[in-house]
This record gives sequence, C-alpha cells and structure tokens, in this order.
Amino acid sequence: MRKALVTGASRGIGRAIALRLAQEGYALVIHYGQNREKAEAVAEEARRLGSPLVGLLGANLLEAEAASALVHGAAEILGGLDTLVNNAGITRDTLLVRMKDEDWEAVLEANLSAAFRTTREAVKLMMKARFGRIVNIASVVGLLGNPGQANYVASKAGLIGFTRAVAKEYAARGITVNAVAPGFIETEMTEKLPPEVREAYLKGIPAGRFGRPEDVAEAVAFLVSEGAGYITGQTLCVDGGLTPH
Ligand code: NAP
Repeated sequence: MRKALVTGASRGIGRAIALRLAQEGYALVIHYGQNREKAEAVAEEARRLGSPLVGLLGANLLEAEAASALVHGAAEILGGLDTLVNNAGITRDTLLVRMKDEDWEAVLEANLSAAFRTTREAVKLMMKARFGRIVNIASVVGLLGNPGQANYVASKAGLIGFTRAVAKEYAARGITVNAVAPGFIETEMTEKLPPEVREAYLKGIPAGRFGRPEDVAEAVAFLVSEGAGYITGQTLCVDGGLTPH
C-alpha cells in the first residue's frame, strides 16, 4: 500500500491531488493550515473514492518546527511514508518598492523553507526503504517571472532549484524528486485577481482556458507512480502551453 502526505490539501490544487491519489488507492494524510472543516470533507471524499486509510493533520507551516513534526506525524499515522507532495503555498503580492520584509519572509518560509524541512525529514524515511516519490508544486512564474510577485517568484524559482539538487543527491537511492509548475489554475488563490488581469492571462494561454486543479493532480499522479521511477529533477509545466520550452 502506497503512503502519501499532501500538504495544503484542504482546498484547491492540494485537495485535487489528494483525491486523485485516493482513486489510486493510496493511504493518505491530508494536511491543512486553518481549514479543518474543509480538510475533513476532503478526507471523507478520499475514503469514498477508495483510500484505505485517511488521517488529518493541521500544522502552520510558517512555524519551523511544524514542518518536521508534520512528516513524522504522518509517518506514524500511515506506518511509513513513500510519497510527499509539497503543495501548500501562499502569495503576498505587491510591487517590489512596497514589499515589506514580512511579505518576503512569510512567502519564502511557507513556499520554500517549509518544503526544505518536510523533504529533509521525508528523505530520511525514504532512504531506509530505498524508495520514495517527492513532488514540489512550483509555478510557471518561477520560470517566467511575474511583476508584483518578486517574493512568490523567488520562492518558486528556489523550489525548482531545490528540486534539482535533491534529485541528484538521492537518485541512486530510489527516490525521485520532481516539480510541477502550474500555470493559471482556477482556485481561491487566483479568485482574488482583478477581472482585467484574469482576461490578460487568458489571452496568453494557447489552450484558450484556465487550468483546473484536476489538471495538476493528473501530472502529480503520474510523477509519483512507480512507473515514473527514471524521471527525476524535472519541472513539468501544466499550463495549457503558456511556457515556451
Ligand atoms: P489555495 O487554494 O490558496 O490553497 C492553499 C493551501 O495551502 C490550503 O490548503 C491552505 O490550508 C494551505 N496553506 C496556506 N498557508 C498555510 C500555512 N501557513 N500553513 C499550512 N498550510 C497553509 O492555493 P492553490 O491555488 O490550491 O495552490 C496550491 C499550490 O499551487 C501553491 O503552492 C501555489 O503556489 C501553487 N500554484 C497555484 C497556482 C494557481 O493558479 N492557483 C498556479 C501556480 C502554482 P488552509 O486553507 O487549511 O489554511
């Protein structure tokens, strides 16, 4: 039985990833920040879709110790851990000249440092089993840049570099580490954007539509599958053709 922890699984993309893995029969720990009720609903749906074991863990990933404790808590519930999806993330958008130190630090902490800590602890567990799958949810803006998001872009570009480095460290141990870079996906994170900004984004997407959380979940399900064992250190864009590479 495969055993997965998905961070930020109470809503949006993380929710879709958890439910997709449930369909594959993974035992799951659904992590949430503040929305326990929503996480409970995801857990219930995951059970209905076929997950044999579903646990719930809350942790504020802005607190350094919380990330490590989360991984060990998940492994305890699941009786081990072979899959980690670092999905939780935040934005605090503003132009550089208005960006406060705390906007920078919170975004780097939640999007990059928390993933460093969860990955470090998960790799320790995976090394013993000589098998592991880690997927970091980055963003196409980590490759392309985006005005008003210097903190977010830096965190996602950092996550892509982190993915490449860790992939090389543990490739010989049966552990793959990849990034998925979503484009514009319809979730609460993007609902906040003004209509004119959404329209401008839409014009640039060759597929002619925004993405769905399920589009991202499909890519994650592939990368964590046993069959994807020779793919590591990659960044897979799920963006309707937006990124030119
Ligand atoms: P979302 O709807 O805003 O959900 C964010 C998730 O992260 C929630 O489950 C939330 O938990 C959790 N979270 C936020 N802050 C946290 C904290 N301090 N501690 C613990 N958990 C925290 O976001 P989304 O759109 O699904 O995005 C998911 C990931 O995809 C993020 O890494 C994001 O950067 C990336 N992404 C999104 C898009 C997009 O277009 N939506 C594009 C590219 C990349 P609670 O609700 O329980 O607090």
